[in-house]
Amino acid sequence: MNAGIFAQGASYDGDTVAGAHFLIPGVDASHKTILYLEDISVSFDGFKALNKLSLYLDDGELRCIIGPNGAGKTTMMDVITGKTRPDSGSAYFGQTIDLTKLSETEIAHAGIGRKFQKPTVFEQHSVFENLELAMKTDKRVRASLSARLDSAQRDRIADTLALIHLAAAAERPAGMLSHGQKQWLEIGMLLMQEPRVLLLDEPVAGMTDEETERTGELCKTLAGKHSVVVVEHDMDFVAGIANKVTVLHEGSVLAEGSMGEVQNDARVIEVYLGR
Ligand code: ADP
Ligand code: MG
Repeated sequence: MNAGIFAQGASYDGDTVAGAHFLIPGVDASHKTILYLEDISVSFDGFKALNKLSLYLDDGELRCIIGPNGAGKTTMMDVITGKTRPDSGSAYFGQTIDLTKLSETEIAHAGIGRKFQKPTVFEQHSVFENLELAMKTDKRVRASLSARLDSAQRDRIADTLALIHLAAAAERPAGMLSHGQKQWLEIGMLLMQEPRVLLLDEPVAGMTDEETERTGELCKTLAGKHSVVVVEHDMDFVAGIANKVTVLHEGSVLAEGSMGEVQNDARVIEVYLGR
């Protein structure tokens, strides 16, 4: 069975998760920074996938992360989401939440949602039901799809359907959607959990040009209400949405700034052209 969204924190067997929920304080973004990564190092058999990586994300910003294959982009997301523990360094969500001390489920519940490259929707369920299943509500509601939704919940699903361009496909089985539509649905499922931070790893891989463009619009719409981190290889896509870009290389930040600034950075040019 496809357990993707539950692995990301949508809590199926509620008890442990519901208990953890009370222990996690609300995120404190009073200093305008929602995510602090400081001097993070991760080694795999002596190989440094992350090497004293430091990165600060403003509350509500849209950040693009680029860098050659193997630069450490996915490992960085693994550290933020608790999948990988850093060997050293600190990772804080807001002022008070130490991410290195929480489980993956606790981090998802604290408000960090992650979309993996491969969409993990429930193919046999309708688009609407997928969003319903992902909704952050009382587990008794979620436990049964036939349980009645209140009007506020219906409105939230309708708003999300519109946002992800799937209103017309609400009753269609998710398995019938195009690859791009499945990616949007999965973003919608993450949104139902009301994350403060959204991590998107290569969201436009395999999309048509039109889908790519719509995904860029979606990312821009989500910023502000959420903080959005997009890892992407597609440079045209990044150029179209980027405000601030971080270039990773060999596990560290090589450059950071506007797309124009990083494109003209001699070290960045060397890393990309030297390959
Ligand atoms: P990116 O997403 O930027 O392409 P990754 O974070 O996936 O890079 O990988 C960074 C480096 O760490 C790569 O050399 C990769 O082979 C290595 N790596 C990542 N995960 C593991 C793992 N679980 N075990 C061993 N090596 C890994
Ligand atoms: Mg990767």
